[in-house]
Amino acid sequence: MILLTSSKLPTVGMTIFSQMSQLAMQHNAINLSQGFPDFMPDAQLLNSVDHFIQKGFNQYAPLGGILSLKEEVAIKIENSHQAIYHPDAEITITAGGTQAIFTTLATFISKGDEVIIFEPAYDCYEPSVELFGGIVKRFQMKAPNYEIDWSEVKNLVSEKTKMIILNNPNNPSGKILTENDVQSLIQIVKDSNILILSDEVYENIVFDGKKHLSLCQYLELKERTMIVASFGKLFHITGWKVGYCAAPKEMMAEFRKVHQFNVFCVNTPIQMALAEYMKDEEHYLHLNSFFQEKRDFLRQGLASTSFELLSCEGTYFQAVTYQNISGKDDFEFAKDLTINHKVASVPFSAFYKDHLNENVIRLCFAKKQETLERAIENLAKL
Ligand code: GLN
Repeated sequence: MILLTSSKLPTVGMTIFSQMSQLAMQHNAINLSQGFPDFMPDAQLLNSVDHFIQKGFNQYAPLGGILSLKEEVAIKIENSHQAIYHPDAEITITAGGTQAIFTTLATFISKGDEVIIFEPAYDCYEPSVELFGGIVKRFQMKAPNYEIDWSEVKNLVSEKTKMIILNNPNNPSGKILTENDVQSLIQIVKDSNILILSDEVYENIVFDGKKHLSLCQYLELKERTMIVASFGKLFHITGWKVGYCAAPKEMMAEFRKVHQFNVFCVNTPIQMALAEYMKDEEHYLHLNSFFQEKRDFLRQGLASTSFELLSCEGTYFQAVTYQNISGKDDFEFAKDLTINHKVASVPFSAFYKDHLNENVIRLCFAKKQETLERAIENLAKL
């Protein structure tokens, strides 16, 4: 037998999302842990994929993606953020947001480079930075408001800072960046060569009439930013694993050098179908109100329970504290909730390197009304 003498990620196990989904399955619990819809995507989109398969679109796509889809993406970005990207040179279709993030880090991070992240942080940032020898510097946003103290962030910057990773709207806190946040970020990076990775996969899921501020709207940021987005979130197709990224052409050219050896290109018939489907912006313009209804349904249902709701400005996720219910740490509480009360969630400590426990869990409301109803019923018993 071969003896593996080292691991590149010695402390990493299975992601919290897979762990909690597995636990939910094992205990037959309602799965509000991993973020994915439990309802069908639009039949028109499903039929269109079938159509393109039958028509023979079954071989490799161009490595950057199918031009008609990149053109639709460029139009969407221009309409929503008034930012111009050249469809062919500045947009790449990826195998989901996570691959776009991984490839960006593989492209730009070398040994000793420092990368600033904001916790609670999506789980793939840190290990992906470390795989390429990067060093992670973190700013902790804390419950209940998850605000950013930019003077502290500034203190994290050194001459080794290569990149800042932002996730807006933030998974798991549901917090969005304000104009003040963005202006503070501009102050920090201007006159530097710091790159930005802006994970905006929930950009179309922002509530209460608030506006998503994409970093591509700011010229001082656009020139240094890789924007990452997800068709999975846009069209309820997380399992198709298709996303895209947008960046200035010099950055994108470097990205593609790595992308071609990483995935080469992405699923052809799905790209063809998405290009058709995106022509009608009605297919995504109402996502905010669609998910706001779900958020409000869950919030109303939980209002009379012992859980306390934190604010939720965007994403699929409602954060709640359970301090009136249990003194357990959030991981133990989430396990207990899954096994004994049949509702799976994600503990916030999983999003902090030091496992900061503030008795907060994340509930995914991208679910059918009946799923949310059953979950509320169970949660109300606590
Ligand atoms: N983005 C999803 C979440 O936050 C999970 C995706 C995954 O499991 N990698 O739940």
